[in-house]
Amino acid sequence: MKKFAVVGNPIAHSRSPELHHAFAERFGIQLQYEKILAEEQHFAEVVRAFFAQGGVGLNITVPFKEQAFTLCQKVSERGKIAQAINTLYMQNGELCGDNTDGQGLVEALFAQGCDLDGKTVLILGAGGATRGVIYPLAQAGVRHISIANRTLSRAEQLVRDIQPFVPLTTLQAMALAESVGQFDVVINATSASLSGETMPLSEKVKFDFAYEMAYGKESSFLQQAMQRGIPCADGYSMLVGQAIEAFVIWHGVRPTLLDFLDNKA
Ligand code: NDP
Repeated sequence: MKKFAVVGNPIAHSRSPELHHAFAERFGIQLQYEKILAEEQHFAEVVRAFFAQGGVGLNITVPFKEQAFTLCQKVSERGKIAQAINTLYMQNGELCGDNTDGQGLVEALFAQGCDLDGKTVLILGAGGATRGVIYPLAQAGVRHISIANRTLSRAEQLVRDIQPFVPLTTLQAMALAESVGQFDVVINATSASLSGETMPLSEKVKFDFAYEMAYGKESSFLQQAMQRGIPCADGYSMLVGQAIEAFVIWHGVRPTLLDFLDNKA
């Protein structure tokens, strides 16, 4: 049976296995998809061992997406721009990488009736997930993206890396503690929600729609949006969207997003 897995730390919360099994069932494909918990210093070794033992495809999640990029011999255009990889596979003996997070997010926002053309977006966080979504958001017509990160230098580096590839979209870095402005959409791409940490959102940030990339429990970010009476959604729809894009890469067939959005896989 073809073997797939998702590698991360933490990983217990991941719903990728149930989604890929549900997609496979829809198409009559036999596969095995597991969760692998990797320690930071052993990540590369885990990836090599998986493919050496005949594994077909890996998804990479927090905090390894940027490290995964450095392991690849061949990378898609969107993966190169992001310098972060969430989908790995072997082709002609080469480790190939792609990043399906951004397309997954864009499809998820569309499915939720969130129009992006000409809009302004604030992204909280500047890790692998943020790197993956900027180029696809710009391609979907977003005209301005501010990136607010706890470590300002990381947001500034990200803007320097990606701005040349998105000439029609202005990118701006800011410190998370000093975030300010009026935005159509605010996206929480910090991993604070995963670790259950509270992340106060400045009253100086105004927005019309809130999207939390994490899924599962209600984060402090979503609670703050709800207290302000602002429409919001968690990252389950993005999870489904990015999983569909990975499934297409590995199997060449496309599950329909709306069929899998009921949060029950
Ligand atoms: P990374 O580890 O690469 O980056 C984490 C980011 O979170 C960094 O910007 C870090 O800031 C910030 N951060 C962590 N803790 C805090 C805190 N307490 N307060 C403020 N900022 C904090 O993770 P990823 O980018 O890969 O993932 C980010 C989130 O997005 C995760 O929750 C992940 O589960 C989710 N995700 C969901 C997807 C989906 O399909 N729904 C797909 C991809 C990601 P600093 O740089 O200062 O350390």
